Amino acid sequence: MKKKKLSLSAKIFIALVLGIIAGIAFTAKPEIATTYIKPFGTIFLNLVKWVVGPLVFFSIMSGVLSMKDIKKVGSIGIKTVLYYMCTTALAITIGLVFANLFKGIFTVVETTDLTYEASSSVSFMDTLVGIFPSNFVQPFVEANMLQIIVASLIIGFALLLINDNSEKQRDFSLVDTINDIFLKAMEMIINLSPIGVFCLLCPVVAENGPAVLGSLAKVLLVAYLAYLIHMIVVYSATVSTFAKISPLKFFKEMLPAIMFSFSSASSVGTLPINMECTEKLGADKDVSSFILPLGATINMDGTAIYQGVCSIFIAACYGVNLTLPQMLTIVLTATLASIGTAGVPGAGMVMLAMVLQAVGLPVEGIALVAGVDRIFDMGRTTVNITGDASCAVIVSALERRKKERKLAKELASN
Ligand code: ASP
Repeated sequence: MKKKKLSLSAKIFIALVLGIIAGIAFTAKPEIATTYIKPFGTIFLNLVKWVVGPLVFFSIMSGVLSMKDIKKVGSIGIKTVLYYMCTTALAITIGLVFANLFKGIFTVVETTDLTYEASSSVSFMDTLVGIFPSNFVQPFVEANMLQIIVASLIIGFALLLINDNSEKQRDFSLVDTINDIFLKAMEMIINLSPIGVFCLLCPVVAENGPAVLGSLAKVLLVAYLAYLIHMIVVYSATVSTFAKISPLKFFKEMLPAIMFSFSSASSVGTLPINMECTEKLGADKDVSSFILPLGATINMDGTAIYQGVCSIFIAACYGVNLTLPQMLTIVLTATLASIGTAGVPGAGMVMLAMVLQAVGLPVEGIALVAGVDRIFDMGRTTVNITGDASCAVIVSALERRKKERKLAKELASN
């Protein structure tokens, strides 16, 4: 009899549970986990980072070539940015509402000798300039997704225009071939993800275990509650309304990506696995290969929730009561701040400095939550990538319906 093979999602789940158990076992001696287990997690993440740049570059190019239409890329782009902006604003509102509801239970922490070195804040204009690459290889070296997207769109359109303007149609199938090679390499790396999940999670649990039980437990709990509500309410509603996919199916297919993002705390690192999950949910490859990398950089609903909750907690520790206009400022700054921030571990904490500054709270307040940032980060990254996937599935469905309507109209007029 043939043995039934475990699915990837089951293997990742087992690795996740084992990682937590091993992490708890190592809490007395976390250095063992950080010295001997963490490096294997780093090797795995390095491999993912290595493949993600060329994968995004060639899959977007191959997507543009297969769409054969500049207008279609524009229509997808507008829908995507609109969805990302609206859901992020909603996310931060949910974060603020929850934090305000529960701030009475927060354990207020002493703020007298706090220090936090804020990195110099980046203006919106700097972010805009930073989207455009000035060197061909640098975006790949830095895994700068926005720059890689711009570069691949330029080259993709150049290829389209070459064939548009000449009688002789050139064959660009090499792009698809290279894309297939990187997809295969990605698949090979993804098969190692259970090992990656175990090695990434075990040291985090070993290092953070006792801290979680400390005074920040309630803030973490409120943040996780808001993460969960946003995922269950907002994404379920949008996915079932616009893509006609049942929420149960959506979350079931998303499980591997959800577990991976939770363990790695990196949206960019989760990109390859997220592409596979959205494809299983029916998203077109040419659409998701554009939407997901864009989302990994500009769409951070979980990060927005975290910023809302932490701003209220930090304000409470300083004895400040935030006013409604200040809350609105938080909604606006956090939504804008998500653009251009890398989907890598810890990026959201840097953005928190901008939000605190915008409402006049001391940046040193970040030190209050920095100790358990990784725990916040695991949850916020999970929300971030689920938001990206919901957008890919929705825009794919909308584009497909638009195409069907157009076809029906053409048939009717003939
Ligand atoms: N780690 C998050 C991500 O990759 C970003 C953050 O720190 O909030 O999406």
